[in-house]
Amino acid sequence: FIEMKHIEKSFDGTPVLKAVSLAMEKGEVVAMIGPSGSGKSTFLRCLGQLEIIDGGSICVDGTYLAKSEGTAKAVYADKATQQQLLLRMGMVFQQFNLFPHMTVLDNILIAPKMVKGMKEADILPTAERLLKKVGLWDKRDVYPSRLSGGQKQRVAIARALAMNPDIMLFDEPTSALDPELTGEVLRTIKQLAEEHMTMIIVTHEMAFAREVADRVIFMADGIIQEEGTADEVFGAPKSPRTKAFLDSML
Ligand code: ATP
Ligand code: MG
Repeated sequence: FIEMKHIEKSFDGTPVLKAVSLAMEKGEVVAMIGPSGSGKSTFLRCLGQLEIIDGGSICVDGTYLAKSEGTAKAVYADKATQQQLLLRMGMVFQQFNLFPHMTVLDNILIAPKMVKGMKEADILPTAERLLKKVGLWDKRDVYPSRLSGGQKQRVAIARALAMNPDIMLFDEPTSALDPELTGEVLRTIKQLAEEHMTMIIVTHEMAFAREVADRVIFMADGIIQEEGTADEVFGAPKSPRTKAFLDSML
């Protein structure tokens, strides 16, 4: 359903992604792990079109979202097509980026209203279902400043889900949280995995990755060094780099 081929990305002449390829099936949960600076966030940002790729291609259901000729700058699908494809991706980052001047409920309603032009009455049932799902329906009239980090992140997840995405991209969704608040966010993501949401999760939570991921990708130096099932990568890592990294995470 999503196929990223030979993605290359440099910053100021320094290559950060070196021909990284990833193909995702619908319903698949991929965990991406690796040391700091290895290019994990850059990879997700390239997929979400927050960065322009220098090389390679990104294809969603057979339509090119981004494509490059050789090492030339990416050539895109037309704007409208690109928008449509992007709307199918929900993104959740380390920082929650909620709108501070809007209530929890309005944070959920705003994108379907503004981007999809939906009527509030038509979105409300979905908003209620999603806020109940993340356990925050009772906080619907509260402003984000009154929420804990874990609650904010759960609102951010509900907000992304409100756009009815086909894939969710998570970039270290719990690393800005106090340890006692990570559990509630991980449980929410785990629930999505059980409902077969397609997801790419960049995380430093190894136990969590092992539990939810169908496939684990170990990235270092802008290259996928190893990938396999959670049991393969965590249980019997082949590459010495993977081994060293996993040992350092204990
Ligand atoms: P972490 O686990 O710390 O989040 P990461 O694997 O997500 O690390 P990236 O954020 O993708 O790593 O960064 C990879 C490299 O690219 C780093 O060396 C970083 O300094 C560099 N980099 C990322 N974004 C930019 C940018 N906008 N401009 C210049 N360099 C950047
Ligand atoms: Mg990162």
